[in-house]
Amino acid sequence: MLANCVLPPHHTQETFSKAVEELHALLGRENVDTVESNNLDDGSYYEPPKTHDPFHILDQTEYVASIVIRPASTEDVQGIVKIANTHRVPLWPVSIGRNFGYGGAAPRVRGSAVVDLGARMNKVIDINEPQAFALVEPGVTYKALYEEIQRRGLKLWIDVPDLGGGSVLGNTLERGAGYTPYGDHFMVHCGMEVVLPNGEVVRTGMGAMPDPSHPTGSANTWQLFPYGFGPYHDGIFTQSNYGIVTKMGLWLLPDPGGYQAFMISFEKDEDLHQAIETIRPLRIAGILQNAPSIRSATLDIAVAGKRAEFSSTGKPLTEEEIEAAIEKVDTGIGRWTFYGALYGPEPVRDIFWAAIKGAFGKIPNAKFYFPQDLPEKKGSVLHIRDGTLRGVPSFTELEWTKFVDNGSALFFSPISPVTGEDAEKHYELAKRRHAEFGFDYLGTFTIGMRELHHIICVVYDRTNTEQKARAYKMLRLMVKDYAELGYGEYRTHLSLMDAVADTYNWNNNSIMKLNETLKDALDPNDILAPGKSGVWPKQYRESQ
Ligand code: ADP
Repeated sequence: MLANCVLPPHHTQETFSKAVEELHALLGRENVDTVESNNLDDGSYYEPPKTHDPFHILDQTEYVASIVIRPASTEDVQGIVKIANTHRVPLWPVSIGRNFGYGGAAPRVRGSAVVDLGARMNKVIDINEPQAFALVEPGVTYKALYEEIQRRGLKLWIDVPDLGGGSVLGNTLERGAGYTPYGDHFMVHCGMEVVLPNGEVVRTGMGAMPDPSHPTGSANTWQLFPYGFGPYHDGIFTQSNYGIVTKMGLWLLPDPGGYQAFMISFEKDEDLHQAIETIRPLRIAGILQNAPSIRSATLDIAVAGKRAEFSSTGKPLTEEEIEAAIEKVDTGIGRWTFYGALYGPEPVRDIFWAAIKGAFGKIPNAKFYFPQDLPEKKGSVLHIRDGTLRGVPSFTELEWTKFVDNGSALFFSPISPVTGEDAEKHYELAKRRHAEFGFDYLGTFTIGMRELHHIICVVYDRTNTEQKARAYKMLRLMVKDYAELGYGEYRTHLSLMDAVADTYNWNNNSIMKLNETLKDALDPNDILAPGKSGVWPKQYRESQ
């Protein structure tokens, strides 16, 4: 039964079979799948595999699971944790497991048991319209939450990331971002339920206050006030291996009573500097109301078509080819294109728009568009963003992965201040490395509250081993390059977690010492997500 299964470290078929038998008894055989590592299917965004990373940058089986298990309740998760402690089986919890461009559902340690929380724990537990919040289980996707709000006819909006198929809870735990005024997902979450590695369940914030009369059994302020009393813990359960989150609250936006997406395109590559300088004061003052983004021409070109449609060389697009492609796609884009939105009734929007137009109008040849000004056609990013910026889940954004054959994507995401000088440094560095290694630079800067998330989308052919090795070499170098300039990644792919963690080493790596102290205290048997974000449990550290 375990013939082609990659076993967890230090296990034999015999020892692992015992754990699997106990899991069968707990969850039912039908909720425990054995993974045949010689028969992996990369699936698609719509049917993502839970067994490995479909966008493998290393070998397909490098990050492969031994089994995939599907709990139905918090009690099941506690039971799984108990079995894992007894048999020392590493667990890798995922909510939906899409985790697009960061490793999918794959575990960092080969042979871990992937805990597919979303398969059966997918209830929207509560949506409260007047107080504008929701409480969800791990399997609730952005699409599902959106549809539930529509079904109930509520005057509420959600914030969505680029793609609508991810888990609301999973994305928040990874500190993912969206594009409405609630674009910082961790900032607008409120309250968690967490199974600790020792099997104990905690509720954070006001959730620690019991109220037997409330349907959740916790205080009716659990989703209203994030902090509760005493130490605030929620942050340590994000991008971490300290707990399995089984419920999470989040704030929803009340329908603002009006909306208008817009796009501003800039003619020259050098305009990035002035555009960013224009964005900063507007964003900090709240005149740019949402988390907008400014995208490179190449990213928008890649949404419109394959590289071969814009170049016959098989090489990255040249400056001239980029200029020609902008003309060819004819979607109003420039060398850089800014996508934002106005929220509120018309008079409110008019005031904001006048301020925004006045400021960006100082950049020579900046062009302003509303979606209604342009034909809706393939590759029109403004029409896609029109939905995303008002929280309508989209599946179209992944089109740019098809830019190359067998296109796969990995995100490289360093953080920058919102200054022209910093953005330029980020861009120059990425552009230089991409040219050196023969990749197209497809990038976007998303503007948060005070920072830029520079999201570089590295697209490669996953059937081409040489190309993958080249991309991986470039990525490893870029971790170092950016760190030398003082920039760090906010999130990363499995294969770069150690490298990125190593760059956060101020004061003799004191943050990693704290991480490891917490890890050893909370997870003495080393069972939960070893290696997540570069945090290794004790026995793994000692054997390295
Ligand atoms: P997506 O929403 O994109 O499908 P995933 O469900 O794959 O995201 O989650 C991304 C990552 O977040 C996982 O690889 C895991 O490290 C972490 N994670 C997701 N859900 C949980 C959870 N419920 N408890 C703890 N960690 C989680």
